[in-house]
Amino acid sequence: MKRKAEDSHGAKPVPFWAMGLLKTMKDPKYILNSDNQITIIKDMYPKARHHFLVLPNTDIGSLKTLTKDHVPLLQHMIKFGQNYVEEHHQSVAFKFGYHAEASMFRLHLHIISEDMDSLALKTKKHWNSFTTEFFLNPQQIITDLRENGQVQLPTKEKCKEYMDMPLKCHKCELKPKNMPELKRHLLTHLV
Ligand code: AMP
Ligand code: ZN
Repeated sequence: MKRKAEDSHGAKPVPFWAMGLLKTMKDPKYILNSDNQITIIKDMYPKARHHFLVLPNTDIGSLKTLTKDHVPLLQHMIKFGQNYVEEHHQSVAFKFGYHAEASMFRLHLHIISEDMDSLALKTKKHWNSFTTEFFLNPQQIITDLRENGQVQLPTKEKCKEYMDMPLKCHKCELKPKNMPELKRHLLTHLV
């Protein structure tokens, strides 16, 4: 029988594999920095040369369970991530964002370098999850909470549309036919 855990708000049961971030958050090999509120870890399957996740130390399942009260925490997550990359990767360009539909449990902010050069980046879904509107701006999440008290998430249909979008380079107008072509092309953007 599959082991399952309930999220902190009694919403949908979470499959055991989706709880992996909780274990990684406690693994010194992956922890980059932390304070009493949040932890920044290395993504175990980085989709770029540098890929980090910022997570709250308290049990917040996902964007769906956020309220206005979380705004200071969300601001702190962004600031903490910015400080980390400024200190350790000054010359690297990063994007910050949340996946509209996360696969893993515990809220996590992605911090990913713009090269997108990684062996673990294999599928169109991987690509589109970071380069389309599926990748949500963390400032917009804060604005949503301030204005509406909850996050305005794209519908399931819209998310599928983003995932199914034809491949497009995030730096130029090229529309590669497939992932191998895209990955070869990405190398031309590396300095
Ligand atoms: P998301 O689609 O936003 O839920 O992304 C989850 C992220 O967690 C992906 O970038 C994965 O590469 C990463 N990941 C998956 N399992 C683990 C794990 N056990 N520890 C650290 N990172 C993980
Ligand atoms: Zn390009």
